[in-house]
Amino acid sequence: MIYHSFQDLQLSSLGFGTMRLPLLENGSIDMVELDRMVDTAIASGVNYFDTALPYHEGNSETAIGKSLSRYPRESWYLADKFPGHQNVPGVTPLDPEEVFETQLKKCGVDYFDFYLLHNVNENSMRYYCKPENGCVEYFLKQKANGRIRHLGFSCHAAPDALKEFLSMYGKEMEFCQIQLNYVDWTLQDARRKCEILKDAGLPVWVMEPVRGGRLAAFDAEIEEKLRSYRPDESVPAWAFRWLQTVPKPTMILSGMSNLQQMEDNIRTFSEEEPLNEKELELIREVSGSIARLIPCTGCRYCCAGCPMGLDIPYLLSMANDMAIHRSFNVVMRYSAIEEGKRADACIGCGQCAHACPQKIRVPEELAKFAEMMKQQKSWEEICRERAEAAAKMKENNN
Ligand code: SF4
Ligand code: SF4
Repeated sequence: MIYHSFQDLQLSSLGFGTMRLPLLENGSIDMVELDRMVDTAIASGVNYFDTALPYHEGNSETAIGKSLSRYPRESWYLADKFPGHQNVPGVTPLDPEEVFETQLKKCGVDYFDFYLLHNVNENSMRYYCKPENGCVEYFLKQKANGRIRHLGFSCHAAPDALKEFLSMYGKEMEFCQIQLNYVDWTLQDARRKCEILKDAGLPVWVMEPVRGGRLAAFDAEIEEKLRSYRPDESVPAWAFRWLQTVPKPTMILSGMSNLQQMEDNIRTFSEEEPLNEKELELIREVSGSIARLIPCTGCRYCCAGCPMGLDIPYLLSMANDMAIHRSFNVVMRYSAIEEGKRADACIGCGQCAHACPQKIRVPEELAKFAEMMKQQKSWEEICRERAEAAAKMKENNN
């Protein structure tokens, strides 16, 4: 197992993300398979386990806590998160203390080795960055009394918003988890985020290394090509090998769903074998072909003349994001854009298309994206539904 130093700890480079645990036919978590996965992970040197309240509708914390409790507490590190991103107007805000105490109980622990502000983004920063909400302050207090060993945050914000958050809480944070893989290196500007975090002296934790499974399987032709370069490696292994070629992240979380995936990942993480130049070229080809992405380079030549003042490259990057994987993260970030600046505000004047060196038909792309977003539930609606479901669950448990 590859290990990386973090302060005085040696963390396995592979962390077990518990967002996509094995399920039984009735939809509940398959504890027998989970125990086998945890046994294999621990026997192979994996020592980092990551959970969160929203995973498996609140059941991931209980399941991983129970499975880990079969091993001495000091032999594994557990990370959990506070879902402040779900505190939206119209929904009763989650109380940090109530959530934290419940999480400790659910996981069966007295302290968390790692604790994160979940999903800092343009939207959730409205909550996290208001000192009067007392959120960060509460968790700093828990850190001071030893119930949180290391405090960090996960982030889906664009680079500028990440910078803004760091300007406020950078000194209190010890690590940052971002979505990093060979598609998001450019698509979500993960490269820039890595630079910002390096400047801030914060180590990088990786989430979505295979983009929710999207980089784990391709059509036969692409898979054949990958195999011709590395006959002994699986398709997902390419995503991990790519991560060994960028400035080294400390932690790579993989949301594994069965023992086979766990064993394959453990094989990949037994030693570093970064991609060579030819392989990187191939991965760039693969990346471009997995979805018909809008080839926006973010040069911003189109922006100055837009009569509506739209952040065109930002909107196009979200359209690309949605094309690859319809995700609530895009919905959340899109809802943080003020009305009148979203894709549906485009009046189709065509100025941008003339200015664009990539010859992108921006108005058409924005119209398609606006239509797609119209079909989605709003972020506020999603949060309300989640809050109602959580309240019902609490009622039933009582
Ligand atoms: S077509 Fe739309 S995005 Fe392009 S300049 Fe005109 S209003 Fe702005
Ligand atoms: S000019 Fe074209 S490539 Fe440049 S930011 Fe605008 S849409 Fe993207």
